[in-house]
Amino acid sequence: MTSNLLSTFDPRNGRLVARYPCADAAQVAQVCQRARQVFFDSWRVLPAARRSQALHSVAQYLRAHLAEFAAAEAADTGKSLAGAAGEVEGAAALWEYAAALARVEHSETLGSSTGSGLALTLREAMGVVGMIVPWNYPLITTAERLPFALAAGCSVVLKPSELAVGSLALLVAHLQENPLFPTDVVQLLYGAGAAVGQALTRHPAVDMIAFVGSTATGRAIETAAVACGKRVSAELGGNNQVLVYPDADLGAAADAVIAGGLRNGGQACIAGTHVLVDPMVADAFVLELEQALQRRYPAADATSLPAGLQPMITLQHKQRIQGLLQQGLQQGGHLLQGSRLDGPGQYLGPVLVDRVSADSILRQQEIFGPVITVCRVPAGQFNAIVADNHYGLAAYVWTGSSSTALAVVRQLRAGRIWVNANPEFWLPELPVGGFADSGVGREGGIRALETYSLPKAVIIN
Ligand code: NAD
Repeated sequence: MTSNLLSTFDPRNGRLVARYPCADAAQVAQVCQRARQVFFDSWRVLPAARRSQALHSVAQYLRAHLAEFAAAEAADTGKSLAGAAGEVEGAAALWEYAAALARVEHSETLGSSTGSGLALTLREAMGVVGMIVPWNYPLITTAERLPFALAAGCSVVLKPSELAVGSLALLVAHLQENPLFPTDVVQLLYGAGAAVGQALTRHPAVDMIAFVGSTATGRAIETAAVACGKRVSAELGGNNQVLVYPDADLGAAADAVIAGGLRNGGQACIAGTHVLVDPMVADAFVLELEQALQRRYPAADATSLPAGLQPMITLQHKQRIQGLLQQGLQQGGHLLQGSRLDGPGQYLGPVLVDRVSADSILRQQEIFGPVITVCRVPAGQFNAIVADNHYGLAAYVWTGSSSTALAVVRQLRAGRIWVNANPEFWLPELPVGGFADSGVGREGGIRALETYSLPKAVIIN
């Protein structure tokens, strides 16, 4: 209606979901200043045990309101309710883990090398964190960062994507009314990335940017933030390889590729969508892949919409993927059974392309949709092909040999590696992040608070 409102839509049918007030430059400044004040006045100085208790209460709240959060998370992302419910449960586990970490003392005491006095380090919270997240997993990408930043003692200004807010409005409303948190320790800013995101990235009251999104935006944010003296943690795009060795359990590997590669309509940064399979087993693997597709995404006939497939976030995103497919298929490749190059509205796919060359545009660009490619090459060439990829977010290895698995995981430069497993198997105790074009820094895991704090060196005479 008016230009200062942000509207989000249901990708399944294009219906309006919600309208949010967009912040202007003055409001961005006001929110950042307020975050600085809350950081210094209350949150930073609160004992760690109290911060832990507060974080714990959020995990409990998420579980108690699981259905409400799942419905909100699904409404503008187009997820299934069951998928969204699993994400709320995953987010609760991350808040719980951060609550435990908040109490872990991680300073050091050092003997003095001169023989007198005592040296120690104390960790100091980074300050105000600007947190910018994407549309595909609003709650989970936030849960991988926000509770850890809070555990370290930071205050946070959170900016969701303009395409989907998911359940973040609900989450921040709860944090605002929860008496265990000072008011405004977490605030929301709505608006376009190029306006509100950029203003947040540059505001002098902000000490750090924690970003999740595309590589291009991430690089621009890193440059802008570092130029203003801010620290940056960024988890970016991926183009993830699945290595299928001749001794792999082909049925399990194919099932995991369909489950993980098409999850969220393939709009997942860690989706394993690019299969490298040894020619010795390629025919058998491809057959398993077609069968797994039919099992997981059954369709009445060749033209009807497969059950359970998620739509693309926007029509433009669908059209971009179709453009890539058109170019890629001109370079070669063979569509497997069950593939659909179009669908109603914002729906597309699934698309399974066999006999794709290693340098096909379909393997070189992040497609971010329900497209799985199969490249048939001898296992001896897997490492070289993977090393050629500029992304380093996730990788999947399928082999019956533990020595092959160990050799390969040592070789791979990817932030997350699954061996004989699909990505649904994950633990909040593990760090996340990428190599190369997939990002800088690490989030989560046992050292998560180090991302949001710095050591102060102290000498006591
Ligand atoms: P995007 O980069 O377009 O936007 C991400 C966020 O950045 C949004 O909130 C957007 O408003 C904001 N933004 C855009 N331009 C900005 C600017 N100039 N300054 C500040 N903020 C700005 O990404 P997207 O389309 O929302 O998400 C899809 C991308 O995110 C894919 O590349 C995907 O791989 C990546 N992603 C990565 C992870 C991960 O954990 N590595 C997780 C989810 C998504």
